[in-house]
Amino acid sequence: MSAGVFLPQSLSELWPLLADGAVPMAGGTDLLARRRGRAPGFVACLERIGELRGVSEEGGLLRLGACETHTSLLGNPGLRERLPILARALAVLGSPLVRNMGTIGGNIVTASPAGDTLPPLYALDAELELASRGGARRLPLAEFIAGPGKTLLGPGEIVSAVLVPVPEAGSGVVQHFEKVGRRKALAIAVVSLAALVRTGPGNVVVEARLALGSVGPTVVRCLNAERELLGRRLDQAALSRAAAAVREEVAPIDDLRASAAYRRDVAGNLLLRLAPPS
Ligand SMILES: Cc1cc2nc3c(=O)[nH]c(=O)nc-3n(C[C@H](O)[C@H](O)[C@H](O)COP(=O)(O)OP(=O)(O)OC[C@H]3O[C@@H](n4cnc5c(N)ncnc54)[C@H](O)[C@@H]3O)c2cc1C
Repeated sequence: MSAGVFLPQSLSELWPLLADGAVPMAGGTDLLARRRGRAPGFVACLERIGELRGVSEEGGLLRLGACETHTSLLGNPGLRERLPILARALAVLGSPLVRNMGTIGGNIVTASPAGDTLPPLYALDAELELASRGGARRLPLAEFIAGPGKTLLGPGEIVSAVLVPVPEAGSGVVQHFEKVGRRKALAIAVVSLAALVRTGPGNVVVEARLALGSVGPTVVRCLNAERELLGRRLDQAALSRAAAAVREEVAPIDDLRASAAYRRDVAGNLLLRLAPPS
């Protein structure tokens, strides 16, 4: 088979299509935009496969079906309440039309350094469930993404779900996402920050996870900046030291949207927003 658009209703109908060389398509917002008006080729649409849908909780993990659209995830009260860091990113992804069509699985497999769901999912230490005719395997998201547009997806394999550990809730837990773009709507991130910080008695940081988008070939987890915060009071002084570490750790490039120097500056500045109001 060499061309055509197929609508399998189940995973078992999907596998033979993939074996014949079909390209999986979820919302098509990246795939079709890349084809720029040319015929889609040999495509297997994932949209009718029920196994790739749904949000459920299993042993401390939220399981997000890969074909959940950004809009459907945003409409899930459990996700909004427990993963506000991800909900905030979904809310500023593209436009309502793009959010209605685009899926979380498609955003991940596109593997853009500016993909909005990626920094929160890195900060949350998310894993992926990858399925193929032979069964399923799990891989940390940070290992799955190998570079801009590059992933470890094997032949005949799809992303079937995103598995997200639910962070502790309560006072002292900050889940923060912020994206800086060149305009308010439909903006591709110039820099984005996802931060998950937990403080204990005396407002001392006991856990910090910082992931930045659009400042390297993949999302950057700033481990030195995280270490700067650990054991310190979450205040301007600690955040300023961590911001300096962030500026050292990121590796941005100059492009049409911003210079590397601007990105480096903003990357550090975004962290300063975590200071509690004085
Ligand atoms: C106007 C416009 C604005 C946009 N703005 C933003 C933005 O602000 N932020 C942002 O992050 N993105 C943005 N995007 C990009 C895009 O909308 C998102 O990346 C979206 O989440 C892609 O999902 P999709 O379901 O449409 O993917 P598709 O286009 O269907 O697929 C993308 C790629 O992933 C593969 N794929 C899809 N699903 C799976 C799966 N489950 N398993 C294996 N492979 C799969 C496809 O083969 C393809 O290679 C924008 C796109 C457009 C057109």
